[in-house]
Amino acid sequence: MSIERCAYCGKERPSEEMKSAKIIFRDRHPGGKAFVNSKVNRYCADGPCAGNDQMAHEG
Ligand SMILES: [Zn+2]
Repeated sequence: MSIERCAYCGKERPSEEMKSAKIIFRDRHPGGKAFVNSKVNRYCADGPCAGNDQMAHEG
């Protein structure tokens, strides 16, 4: 059994209680050009963490 940390609330939980979710956010190239980036994080499967983190990344 492996333990994973939620990317939003920081709780450490067994991987069975976690899920993957893609977060889309605005990023900026080193030259200053803005673009839309995304990443896949691990979140609590039974909580609102994935949705909350997505909202936190929206302007
Ligand atoms: Zn969480």
